[in-house]
Amino acid sequence: MTAHIIDGKAIAAELRGRIGLAVTELQNTHNLTPGLAVVLVGEDAASQVYVRNKGIATKQAGMASFEFRLPADTPQETLLDKVRSLNDDPDVHGILVQFPVPEQISQQVVVDTIRPDKDVDGLHPINAGRLASGLPALTPCTPLGSVILAKQTLGDLTGKHAVVIGRSNLVGKPVAQLLLKENCTVTIAHSRTQDLASVCRSADILVAAVGIAELVKGDWVKPGACVIDVGINRVEAPEKGVDDAGQPKTKLVGDVAFDEAVKVAGHITPVPGGVGPMTIACLLRNTLTAACRQAGVPEVEV
Ligand code: NAP
Repeated sequence: MTAHIIDGKAIAAELRGRIGLAVTELQNTHNLTPGLAVVLVGEDAASQVYVRNKGIATKQAGMASFEFRLPADTPQETLLDKVRSLNDDPDVHGILVQFPVPEQISQQVVVDTIRPDKDVDGLHPINAGRLASGLPALTPCTPLGSVILAKQTLGDLTGKHAVVIGRSNLVGKPVAQLLLKENCTVTIAHSRTQDLASVCRSADILVAAVGIAELVKGDWVKPGACVIDVGINRVEAPEKGVDDAGQPKTKLVGDVAFDEAVKVAGHITPVPGGVGPMTIACLLRNTLTAACRQAGVPEVEV
């Protein structure tokens, strides 16, 4: 028996389609075009790709996209001035500073400077606190995408035992909060957890957000469980041959040993093509929500 493979790409494409329709509706009924500003500091190759993809997706959804590229030696105060001017710009409803930022800049200070109602990454302590308090909040995109995948796959999550491996502010903690909101019984595991394998085996929903390639083995998975693999790890793939420089080619794998887990789980996300595509879709969703809240118009359910 092999698991149903959760098609994050298709689910994200559907969500983006619904967001596009909602944007058209907002423009027609309230003359409101949601706007997302993305700020990139430096020339990190992966970040450039992420920023470009976010810009394309924003425009495809019919939203306004604003992109700002600052040199790698930008002083912190210059970046904060940029953020403050975006905070005050009525055409910008969402602000995202692409991380990581160069070392002269504190990521936390940047997050703290973004207006909480424009914080579409959901990382501001006010949004984290609101989420933990069960109040409406802008929620980090990858966790939101992970839980949407679980809900679309399983339906009502009430009473299920969810194990989240990882307790970062970016992924683990908000995933746990969102699952709690869905009435799951939630266990958060981390690097000091004892007997992680048996903790994982008790999970109806297993979310892996660690950053260690294929940490979760097949026999850690409860038969029939829903496995959401958030990890993105680049590893050597000698089976693909060598590149022009004679180095082994690489591939992306998750935190779950997919080939083993797929034989045990009921449902599983692949890497790539699982959680990854949901992140940008949820960024657009947050931008839509932020625009409605700032304009004081009813929030569009997507
Ligand atoms: P992170 O900040 O490095 O946090 C990793 C967490 O894993 C920590 O809580 C750590 O525990 C825990 N951990 C480390 N080693 C462990 C072990 N041996 N056993 C159990 N737990 C262990 O990473 P992150 O930002 O949360 O990201 C996690 C993964 O998700 C990464 O692979 C990242 O690339 C990926 N990611 C994907 C997306 C996406 O769009 N799909 C977005 C963001 C991140 P301690 O707290 O005890 O150190």
